[in-house]
Amino acid sequence: MSVKNLIRENILTLEPYRCARDEFEGDADIYLDANENYRTFLQRVGINRYPDPHSARVVEAVHEVFGFPKEKVIIGNGSDEIIDLLIRIFCNPGRDSILIFPPTYGAYKVFASINDVEVHTAELAENFELDEKKAVEAIDAYKPKIVFICSPNNPTGNSFDLEVIRRIAEHNPGITVVDEAYHDFSEKPSAYTLMDENERIVVMRTLSKAWGLAGARIGICVSSEEIHDILYNVKYPYNVPLPSQQAAVSALEKGHLVKKCIEEVLLSREILEERLARFKGVHVFPSDANFLLVRVPDAESIYRRLIKKGIIVRLRSSEPGCRDCLRITIGSHDENVELYNALKELLNE
Ligand SMILES: *Cc1c(COP(=O)(O)O)cnc(C)c1O
Repeated sequence: MSVKNLIRENILTLEPYRCARDEFEGDADIYLDANENYRTFLQRVGINRYPDPHSARVVEAVHEVFGFPKEKVIIGNGSDEIIDLLIRIFCNPGRDSILIFPPTYGAYKVFASINDVEVHTAELAENFELDEKKAVEAIDAYKPKIVFICSPNNPTGNSFDLEVIRRIAEHNPGITVVDEAYHDFSEKPSAYTLMDENERIVVMRTLSKAWGLAGARIGICVSSEEIHDILYNVKYPYNVPLPSQQAAVSALEKGHLVKKCIEEVLLSREILEERLARFKGVHVFPSDANFLLVRVPDAESIYRRLIKKGIIVRLRSSEPGCRDCLRITIGSHDENVELYNALKELLNE
């Protein structure tokens, strides 16, 4: 199916809002076109001006670091904005649906529900791998407009076999979104490599995790140019604030530091994984991300008692297949030691 036939009618025929910075692109001496204040009252150059609607310098830096072609990249206010945009672009409220593979990231379901878009599920297998047969059957049965695949998956931590993702996306006549928020921590190949052969694949990245920029809200969407252009028309004109764009460019220039930090996180993950696995009754699931999913006896009690010790982890036990599971982010060396000691004490009680 062609991408055009998947887009909502009202979105395809939309006359997009064009902001001042859309109408005039380039450099000028005097800007009197956007009703901004000519002064700023803060020590921050340019904050009195509207930000670049294209986030062009971020796109440029993203191209330099990740190699994605600039005409395929949209910067979102976090990848959460991208998820919401994709649902609004492709799914007619009250009529269309999405398909997700629980346990997975909670935002797909929430944004779909907000948009009155039905959510179908095909649960992961017991080892948290994609159940390809179940996925194909669900696609045939529900004909979802979007299939969301999170790889490495949150909260399970594993990444999925690219060949399986390729076959599911191939079988899916709709859009397949591969959320690679944790890809920086993984050695596995990116679904980006599948985009040439399948224009219905959309890949999402974020600077919120490995790149240390959760507070700036920078999401990256790589898609066909056709989808890119629609995303640009539908997003808020000034969706990424100026300080965030500046922070993103600065962070992307520090790739060498990020790389070192990622290596540190991976080493800490290995150490913590190995140590936690030695506790009786504890199971640590293999992770390709900066967190571990850990099954412990009576997770809820451990969770509450960790809070009393000032350590907050995520209780995931109500997710399918995640009975008695905690999701624990890899912290600094000292934080990991404190967590380890606290768990040791609680598990021995
Ligand atoms: C954290 C996370 C996001 C959200 O990223 P933002 O860019 O901060 O909005 C998206 N997907 C997954 C799977 C995540 O874990």
